[in-house]
Amino acid sequence: MKTLEDYSEEINKCSKCGLCQSVCPVYRITGNDCAVSRGKFVMLDGVIKGDLKLNKNINKYLEMCLKCGKCKDFCPSGIDVCEIFKTAKHDYLKNSFEGKIIRFLQSEKIFDTFLEIFSKFNQARTSAISGSEAETLLFFKGCANQIFPSSEKAVKKILNKINIKLIEKNFKCCGVPFASSGNIERFNDVKEYNLNIINNSDGEYLLTDCASCEDALRNYPGINKKVLTIGEYIAEKNIKFKFKKTVRVTFHKPCHLKNDDFVKKILKNCENVQYVEMPDYDSCCGFAGQFAITNRKLSIEISKEKIKQALTVTPDIILTACPACIIGLRQGLISLKGINAKSPKIKNISEFLADGLCE
Ligand code: SF4
Ligand code: SF4
Repeated sequence: MKTLEDYSEEINKCSKCGLCQSVCPVYRITGNDCAVSRGKFVMLDGVIKGDLKLNKNINKYLEMCLKCGKCKDFCPSGIDVCEIFKTAKHDYLKNSFEGKIIRFLQSEKIFDTFLEIFSKFNQARTSAISGSEAETLLFFKGCANQIFPSSEKAVKKILNKINIKLIEKNFKCCGVPFASSGNIERFNDVKEYNLNIINNSDGEYLLTDCASCEDALRNYPGINKKVLTIGEYIAEKNIKFKFKKTVRVTFHKPCHLKNDDFVKKILKNCENVQYVEMPDYDSCCGFAGQFAITNRKLSIEISKEKIKQALTVTPDIILTACPACIIGLRQGLISLKGINAKSPKIKNISEFLADGLCE
């Protein structure tokens, strides 16, 4: 496991050009250089050199990050920003009281029990749906969809309609919340557990309806299946949808969604659907799991900015492809205007499409 010191050379690749400021949603709101990668690298370099302590104050700035990866994609020096922040957080949590609390809350006993309790309320929890043997998909439901079952119901409804066999297994969390809080040991445990099931199950594809799970699964080393989002799968199958009334939709691209080409392809196959692209459709929704708790006000401000952009195109429905983004978008809508009968609906694209399945 790498330590912060191992990233010394990488951190010093930062030319201090400041280009990351232009894309960082946290910097846009705070204007604080310590909130963006450049400032964080100055602090972490000081830690490596022994001039600064990796203490609570520095961790506060490490926490002030959505892990959206925008700065990484934009950085001309090609620095793997998120890996460095994750390692720094791990080094901080290793010896701190806060680390003990996080490790306890994320332990198998607490985290998995919490999920199990929610699953009991999940009416959509069923055994594998039957379908054609010609194509089988292994389904990685993800924790968020376990808590909010509507998207799972939608995926099953769509795949049942086209007679696809869906295999369900007893997966654990993909590990994103653990990795992003610096609990790398717990991430490695769930990764090994899930990988063992994935690589020993039938089917060529691993299907997910959550952009964060998709990102984690694609990066599992040695995975023997192709990871596909439900959106990519539907686009590939060229399925037709028809809506009773004309609806105007826009799409928010989750930060961790690798490819969003499927959106336009699918919507072209939808009768009575008008697509309008919102400005900055790929800017962060502001939720980002733990960030929404540790940086509550900032999270709400970023979500409000996102919703303002969405409302400029007056949609009936705001679509996305991640259950966590649905929470972020709702948080923005509630904080900006409140929700009433005229507010746009916010839906995962699978939920939306399930309503338009042709008879
Ligand atoms: S864009 Fe990259 S090189 Fe430029 S200041 Fe930010 S982290 Fe440093
Ligand atoms: S990952 Fe996102 S929120 Fe974090 S520093 Fe980079 S751009 Fe800012």
